[in-house]
Amino acid sequence: MKQINASSHRTPIYRDVGFPFNSLSDAEQAFIDEGQFPQSSPHSIYTRYGNPTVRATEEALSDLEGSHWSMLTSSGMSAIDTALSAFQKGLQTGTWLFFSEIYGGTNIYIDEILRKTRGIQVERFTPQADSFNLNEFIEILERVKPDLLFFESISNPLLIVPDAREVIKLAKERGVRVIVDNTFGTPSLWRPLQDGADLVVHSATKYLAGHGNLTAGVVSGNDEALKKQALKYRKLTGCILSPDDAYRLGTQLITFEMRFQKHCENAMRIATFLRQNEHVSNVLYPGLPSHPTYEQAVDLFGDKGFGAMVTFELKGGRPACEAFVDAIHNDVPYVLTLGDAGSILLHISTVFGREKYPAEGMIRLSVGCEPYEKLEGSISKGLKSI
Ligand code: PLP
Repeated sequence: MKQINASSHRTPIYRDVGFPFNSLSDAEQAFIDEGQFPQSSPHSIYTRYGNPTVRATEEALSDLEGSHWSMLTSSGMSAIDTALSAFQKGLQTGTWLFFSEIYGGTNIYIDEILRKTRGIQVERFTPQADSFNLNEFIEILERVKPDLLFFESISNPLLIVPDAREVIKLAKERGVRVIVDNTFGTPSLWRPLQDGADLVVHSATKYLAGHGNLTAGVVSGNDEALKKQALKYRKLTGCILSPDDAYRLGTQLITFEMRFQKHCENAMRIATFLRQNEHVSNVLYPGLPSHPTYEQAVDLFGDKGFGAMVTFELKGGRPACEAFVDAIHNDVPYVLTLGDAGSILLHISTVFGREKYPAEGMIRLSVGCEPYEKLEGSISKGLKSI
């Protein structure tokens, strides 16, 4: 097919699998550059190694994160896998420490892939009474002597915010490398690399893409050696994001800051509204002074907002939740994701398991960036139906 040139203010979607060279020596040089300066090489070789459309969105993500580099992967899980694998050193791999309150899929990956399949020594740090105790954290660091730490900026579904700067400082003082999953916090509230984290990962499926219409992950960092390791892993396992999804993510990112501000504003308002309702026994939102980690949230996020997830408990247990969902699922859909532009909800004990979350009346609301009055109207309708 003939090439027609046109100008565009965006990087277009390059669906090409391979990119042409004018000579043997150009191709030879491209391979040398790709090995020595991955992502900075002026030539594209093969889309699984790197792609111009994917690069353009990676640049936008680095601007957002304030990072030297970013790399896109096919999902949040592949971003986590790529980030962790960049620290794996065969038989020399030490113990990896994970906060226990992290995404359920990551917890299963830790047991099924890291521990059972790859034989990595894994330890978990569990919160006490809805917050992470720093003395206990120091104790586990001293006892386990991990070489890697992984935690999330806001946990799911209890929305626990750790004393993250102190956690990173304590880890780094002991030579422990740190990865933060900042999916719930987003770079709008906190940039973990600025506080010493080695890598930050996101499920870009959530707020960064923000419309529930694509699955993607991102790993960002400042360290060049880690970048090489992570890019090598992505190239050889083939988990790069597709150019089509990278293009869409790039376009949707343009409105990210604006959307997330509104998400947080709506979340604060609906959390305050829920607290005053007779059917609601408890509201968990890190922006409410009643939340067990309110102080940590204020310390970490300042006045930027407190995220857009709200967990609340209905007094009537499961029957109340059933009536609530039944009344509003056409307005606030029951969907097992989060971070969409429109609000969505799920019932915690039946999704995350009764063993860990026995309270049958708990609902997790992913607050959208729709007009607030519309959201409050739907939630009121649901509460009135109980
Ligand atoms: N990290 C967090 C905090 C998540 O909530 C999720 C998914 O919900 C993931 C990672 C995995 O993301 P993905 O579904 O894009 O693979």
